Amino acid sequence: MKIIMLGAPGAGKGTQAKLIAAKYNIPHISTGDIFRANIKTGTPLGIKAKEFIDKGLLVPDELTLDLIKDRFLGADCINGYVLDGFPRTLPQAEALAASLAESGEKIDYAINVDVPDENIVNRMSGRRACLKCGGTFHIKYNPPVKEGICDLCGGTLMQREDDKPETVARRLEVYHEQTQPLIDYYKENGVLKTVDGTQDVDKVFSDIVDILG
Ligand code: ADP
Ligand code: ADP
Ligand code: ZN
Repeated sequence: MKIIMLGAPGAGKGTQAKLIAAKYNIPHISTGDIFRANIKTGTPLGIKAKEFIDKGLLVPDELTLDLIKDRFLGADCINGYVLDGFPRTLPQAEALAASLAESGEKIDYAINVDVPDENIVNRMSGRRACLKCGGTFHIKYNPPVKEGICDLCGGTLMQREDDKPETVARRLEVYHEQTQPLIDYYKENGVLKTVDGTQDVDKVFSDIVDILG
């Protein structure tokens, strides 16, 4: 099963992608997580990507495609994957479709987690992320058992630099301009499914499971 998560920054793509990955036993592939891992270890790619990420802009397609292209070849991808944060532009979607078509494959589901802009700022300002394992929490909607500590691995929770309000506003603009057109692209492909992302995490997930079967 090959699944794409669509939605604004902070819509809950990562939260749902982790639940999907665990239930269907497929890898969760997050380009944001891969970029952050590269930034942390200071790779050339990470250094280049950081410039864009800190400004709330997308990393250029060429760099992003370089980053992701080998990831699908991993042995763990044999039964599919859930892509979180990729594709984010039409050229990325087209590159993905072309690369899948080479082996006669295609995306099965594009799940659009629909959350209006006015809810996004609250989601982002309360998001806390684990530096060690990428776990994501929310100070109000999904608090960790112990404040500031990751439930999953005991790592320290931090606010992402790009989750500060000024950057969030820019990211939302970029989303509407560059990523939202993918909703129509996947609708035309016949694989788009939209869920109401303003519901509780568990309800959003049960709606997704109804779709995936
Ligand atoms: P969020 O979880 O808020 O949607 P991500 O963790 O997916 O954010 O991404 C963080 C940042 O990494 C993005 O704002 C963007 O700068 C960069 N990024 C991630 N994925 C892509 C992509 N597919 N194309 C371009 N830039 C990307
Ligand atoms: P994305 O990957 O789309 O950027 P995340 O999954 O990181 O979004 O979620 C953004 C923030 O909102 C996190 O702090 C997360 O804990 C919280 N969150 C996710 N889903 C919900 C939900 N259904 N209701 C309330 N808060 C949520
Ligand atoms: Zn952790």
